[in-house]
Amino acid sequence: MSLYAVMGYPIGHSLSPEIHEAFGALTGLDVRYERREVRPAGLAEALSAFRAQEGRGANITVPLKGEAYALATRTSARAERARAVNTLAWQGGGWFGDNTDGAGLIRDLTVNHGWSLQTRRVLVVGAGGAAQGIVGPLLDAGITHLAISNRNPERARDLVAACRDARVGVADTGVAGASPFDVVINATAAGLSGDLPALPDALFEGAIVYDLMYGPKAQVFLSHARAHGACAVADGLGMLVEQAAESFLLWWGVRPATESVLARLRAEVGAA
Ligand code: NDP
Repeated sequence: MSLYAVMGYPIGHSLSPEIHEAFGALTGLDVRYERREVRPAGLAEALSAFRAQEGRGANITVPLKGEAYALATRTSARAERARAVNTLAWQGGGWFGDNTDGAGLIRDLTVNHGWSLQTRRVLVVGAGGAAQGIVGPLLDAGITHLAISNRNPERARDLVAACRDARVGVADTGVAGASPFDVVINATAAGLSGDLPALPDALFEGAIVYDLMYGPKAQVFLSHARAHGACAVADGLGMLVEQAAESFLLWWGVRPATESVLARLRAEVGAA
């Protein structure tokens, strides 16, 4: 029987096994999916061991998405654009690398929440692996302006340059008065340590605010946004489920329905 896994460090709290097993139950497929702790620089060795056990596909999470991109023998256009891989599939004797994070975010925003991105002005806070994965799909979703802000400004400038799109710029977050953004997306890891990325409070007024983190770790940012006038807020649980559905489609050729899985996880994780 073929084996699937999520690899990263730390990995203990990953919900991916639960999500993929639930998709298996919904689609009638016999899914065997494990968590594997893999430290930085350890992915090549972990994948060799995984192949020896009939490993057919892996989700790759922090901090290994760049390593997975370098190790993939072929990559999808969206992985190429992100320069990061979150899904590996064993195909034709090598690892095919894809990036489903952006597609997962767009589907959560537009389908699950019903928020159109057409003509929106969007701020992405963060310039790490997650931000790299979402900027291309956001641009494809019809937004008119994308600003990127990051604690380390050089990384924000690099990501802007890599986008090669006139709609993208480094954020000027020194606003007074109405927020220049319709949508604010927190793609930083600040919530892991209970921190807020440094942003003016006025940025949240009237904006849709989304945090890629989910559950209690997203609450620092989302509560702050609510308190400063956000018109709607959401955490990244829907994105997590939707990016998993895209990986499942790549591996099994069928896209599972996500509503019941998302509802079950929401009950476990708590409100957004
Ligand atoms: P990386 O380690 O690649 O990047 C971390 C980013 O967070 C950098 O931009 C970093 O800034 C910033 N950052 C970290 N700490 C702080 C802080 N205290 N204040 C301000 N900025 C900070 O991580 P990823 O980009 O891969 O992941 C970011 C988050 O997104 C993770 O928490 C992850 O769980 C979540 N995520 C959720 C997904 C989902 O499906 N819901 C999918 C992918 C990611 P600097 O460059 O200055 O260090």
